[in-house]
Amino acid sequence: MDRPRTRLDSFISRILAQRAILNLLAEPGMLPPGGDVLELGLGNGRTYSHLCARFPDRRIIAFDRAVAAHGPSIPPEADVVLGDIAQSAQAFVGRGAALVHADIGTGYDDKDAVTLQWLPGLAAGLLAPGGYLASGLQMSHPALEPAELPPEVRDSHYGLYRKRG
Ligand code: SAM
Repeated sequence: MDRPRTRLDSFISRILAQRAILNLLAEPGMLPPGGDVLELGLGNGRTYSHLCARFPDRRIIAFDRAVAAHGPSIPPEADVVLGDIAQSAQAFVGRGAALVHADIGTGYDDKDAVTLQWLPGLAAGLLAPGGYLASGLQMSHPALEPAELPPEVRDSHYGLYRKRG
């Protein structure tokens, strides 16, 4: 029997897609060497904890308006950047991140449309050539080419993009 899709269904599908994509990017040789991992939207820190486990050799820098993460998932002070990401992440443009993960969708189309005015260009500027953007909001930017999703990711709005170069 077909059941209507609920917000719980969408949440589970988003989180499964997020984990599958980050696990794929953690495979040897996927990311360019040397660059940082940028977590745009620290939130509760669940994804941050996953990034720390999957990318133990990289610096992981988390961005949010305020720290509200679960205790063990609060990053070291030097690796947290507070403020509106649209402005606070500008200081990292050109520094060649290997991975940008952005989980800052709201579920409100009008608010997400505003985010999509600045996020693609910012992410393109943050990444090294060959670096990846994984995003809960799908987007389009000339410097970002859509990359193949892991086969288990279906029916999710998650997007994966590789910076050209
Ligand atoms: N991945 C996170 C986790 O594991 O808990 C969940 C992230 S939550 C869906 C989104 C977070 O992004 C919120 O904590 C929110 O405050 C932050 N956020 C959204 N837009 C932002 C912006 N423009 N500037 C700073 N933080 C933002």
